Amino acid sequence: MNLTVLGAQWGDEGKGKIVDMLTRHFSMVARYQGGHNAGHTVYVNGAKFILRLIPSGILHPGITCVIGNGVVVDPQALFAEVDELTKNGIDVGNRILVSDKAHLILPYHRDLDLLSEARRGERKIGTTSRGIGPAYEDKIARRGIRVGDLSDPKGLEQNVRDNVTARNRLVQESTMEWKPVLEQLLKHAERLKPMVRDVSVLLTQAMRDGQSIMFEGAQGTLLDIDHGTYPYVTSSNASAGGVATGLGIPPRAIGKVLGVAKAYTTRVGEGPFPTELSGEIGNRLRETGSEYGAVTGRPRRCGWYDAVAIRYAARINGLDGLALTKLDVLDGFERLDICTSYRCAGRALTELPSDIGQLAQCEPVYESMPGWSAPTKGAQTFDQLPEAARKYIARLEEVSGVKAAIVSTGSERDDTIVRNDVLQISEFGFQI
Ligand code: GDP
Repeated sequence: MNLTVLGAQWGDEGKGKIVDMLTRHFSMVARYQGGHNAGHTVYVNGAKFILRLIPSGILHPGITCVIGNGVVVDPQALFAEVDELTKNGIDVGNRILVSDKAHLILPYHRDLDLLSEARRGERKIGTTSRGIGPAYEDKIARRGIRVGDLSDPKGLEQNVRDNVTARNRLVQESTMEWKPVLEQLLKHAERLKPMVRDVSVLLTQAMRDGQSIMFEGAQGTLLDIDHGTYPYVTSSNASAGGVATGLGIPPRAIGKVLGVAKAYTTRVGEGPFPTELSGEIGNRLRETGSEYGAVTGRPRRCGWYDAVAIRYAARINGLDGLALTKLDVLDGFERLDICTSYRCAGRALTELPSDIGQLAQCEPVYESMPGWSAPTKGAQTFDQLPEAARKYIARLEEVSGVKAAIVSTGSERDDTIVRNDVLQISEFGFQI
């Protein structure tokens, strides 16, 4: 049985750790969207790994890691990541495979990213400036350059020349030369060549052979280009729909869907965030939870758990269960608030509004629960949790309409509670 693991909030939910701990039940892990703007942090035996583009399954020997057509690939960033893993003793070998239909991020995309943010001024999106958005823009405008194009140097030359010239026209101060861009690409092409595959064929064959695949999302549902808090979103479909289009597999093949959510909420970059806490509690969540971007180091905005947002993610993705992370960060709080609905212009709202202006005006309606003083950090069974923590989780489940199948109590692999009874793991065909 396949499994999709994706973010149920605004990203940074701790997907890396969850994917890593589940990996041993699968033979492949496949990324279906995003680029090296993701920053999945995984701790194994005290060593810290930040995976940006390569699926988090790479830390397990023998697992094949697939980068789908829905991902945008900066070859330089990919190779830097491969080199870093190799340096740290991870045998990457021939375990990374890249779709021939994946679009490339080129140097001018990075320049355009910076420029378009600067031009937006006050209304900036808060992108990671990695060129992800402009690469997707080129894809939709049908002028993008794909991994498969690297095998045709003549066509590639034409494409690179046209694209660089067009970019220079768009950005008056830009005088980028197309030749060095092409030369660098051709160099990358050599190294990329053994990794390139028709990913749809590869995955279909694997499924026919009875292998199980995990699909790994980047960012989160509320950052999805269609279903997120547009325009403060990422440029791809981070939600479950993206799995099928981003890998070339049928929608029915995505398997069960596990949504990763923190026991509170964070958001990085701009855009509305109804439960944001700007004062002391927000700072405490940020410091205790080390809520700083894995890639950019930017401080994340922090707030209480937002059940409206999770119900939304449950609906959009058809969540079968939650992996509730960072419960330990709430240790020692006297009281914990849970947002169960919004109040907007005097009206009660139980659904996330599509209109960004309306969402910006929404006030959270809170329910308050007692906190706990005994630590949950490192707990591995549900019974080890203080009663107040168990009640808090039970209430989150009730108001979110989805059960917490996994509860994470620390950043290490073993700091995890798996509730096999909750997820009816028998349906998955394995015990976690
Ligand atoms: P991702 O992009 O969704 O993988 O999330 P990030 O890696 O950006 O952020 C998650 C951070 O939280 C990482 O530093 C993880 O090591 C850490 N983390 C994950 N789960 C837990 C947890 O249960 N408790 C604590 N304290 N940290 C966690």
